[in-house]
Amino acid sequence: MIYHVAEKFVSINGEGERAGEPAVFIRLAGCPLRCSYCDTVYAMSFDAPCELMTEDDIAAYIADTGINNVTLTGGEPLAAEGIRELLIRLSQLPVRVEIETSGAFDVSVCRGISPAPVLTVDYKLPSSGMESRMLPGNYTGLSHEDTVKFTAGSKEDLERALEVIRGYDLLSRCHVHISPVWGKLSPREAVEFILHHRLNGVRMQLQIHKIVWSPDQKGV
Ligand code: SF4
Repeated sequence: MIYHVAEKFVSINGEGERAGEPAVFIRLAGCPLRCSYCDTVYAMSFDAPCELMTEDDIAAYIADTGINNVTLTGGEPLAAEGIRELLIRLSQLPVRVEIETSGAFDVSVCRGISPAPVLTVDYKLPSSGMESRMLPGNYTGLSHEDTVKFTAGSKEDLERALEVIRGYDLLSRCHVHISPVWGKLSPREAVEFILHHRLNGVRMQLQIHKIVWSPDQKGV
């Protein structure tokens, strides 16, 4: 299988349960969603400039980096043809694979692989313009290793996140993160909301890579 790799690089995980740790990123090109705040527009198109790589090419690149956290991102990695074959190939490496996905694609394609890849599933809130694309089944079949991430760009988004957390009883299923959209919602507003509602177990996350480097920097 051939995969369209828009970027590959070593950095730190900016988000997720392994935030702050070294990670090797594989960014697959192509996403059918159009979130209002997308910060990877350059990888949105399925025709975006990319390197064509096989499963073995990607596995060899990862092995050469010496990094044992792999973040498979996009674009939308679950929209890539042959994604399951790639996940199976990467499961043969001594690495932890994390998939960042939008919530609009059926995550069950990742099941039955050992060791299982870890999922970070976005729930697209109203300000994204993409909430109607969320698949309800994605939020009921998660493991305790997985994470649901709410990227909140407004107070309305925070209120909706609370409804979804309660509606799916997410805190009993998986990790739950709230991440303010850079420049749209202040970290303080997110923290105050979490504290006001006594959201025990919910973690506020900042996109560390946007603090360490410029918010517009690619390849980090
Ligand atoms: S799902 Fe991700 S890659 Fe796709 S448009 Fe939204 S933010 Fe961008």
